[in-house]
Amino acid sequence: MIAFTDGKAIIVALPSKSGGGMYLVRVSAETNKLIVEHACPAQRFKSSCSHIEQAIGFWKILNPWENYPWMPSREVISVQKQIVLQPTWKQITGKGAGMDVAKYY
Ligand SMILES: [Zn+2]
Repeated sequence: MIAFTDGKAIIVALPSKSGGGMYLVRVSAETNKLIVEHACPAQRFKSSCSHIEQAIGFWKILNPWENYPWMPSREVISVQKQIVLQPTWKQITGKGAGMDVAKYY
């Protein structure tokens, strides 16, 4: 799994099922909310897609305390938005990297 951070959010790169290409899914946390931004054909046709789930799964790996039972669950807000790779993003490499994300609570 390839992921980046722009300092406020993580951006997870998911391979497209049809082969070739990647979907970028941006996950940012706000009070009691997780904002998940991406654009893919499944979403356009209002069918379910696994990108949101996968991206949140990765976000939870980087924010393990989110799984504690006393943590309030977050409402997931899905936003259809094309995410474009930016040169300023830092790639998250290895476990524990990219934990700066945690500061933005
Ligand atoms: Zn999708």
